[in-house]
Amino acid sequence: MSIRIHEERCIGCGRCTEACPGNLLRLSSNGKAEIRAVEDCWGCTACMKECPVSAIGYFLGADIGGSGGTLRIEREGHFYHWRIEQPGRADTVITIDRQNANRY
Ligand code: SF4
Ligand code: SF4
Repeated sequence: MSIRIHEERCIGCGRCTEACPGNLLRLSSNGKAEIRAVEDCWGCTACMKECPVSAIGYFLGADIGGSGGTLRIEREGHFYHWRIEQPGRADTVITIDRQNANRY
């Protein structure tokens, strides 16, 4: 269970480094985010929700029934679009209203 950082999208804002409760993320010498200890990530998605440019993906490996695809979060106003990208398949998108997401 882990995340993947898409370097080409990262703008080096550092928001993910402050969001991670395990202090697993840092900015590397090239100004891009990197994960220090990938095996320690428990997939809480806090960093993904904070990233303003959708540069962090959640790897959907076989251990959780995935098929090597990636889940990313795209922000649009008070909506989160959870986009699942899998090789050879059309994207699946689940939209969540952030104003209601923690209500239940
Ligand atoms: S998913 Fe959670 S534990 Fe893993 S790097 Fe992001 S904030 Fe840290
Ligand atoms: S929040 Fe996103 S853009 Fe900012 S440093 Fe982290 S991965 Fe890069």
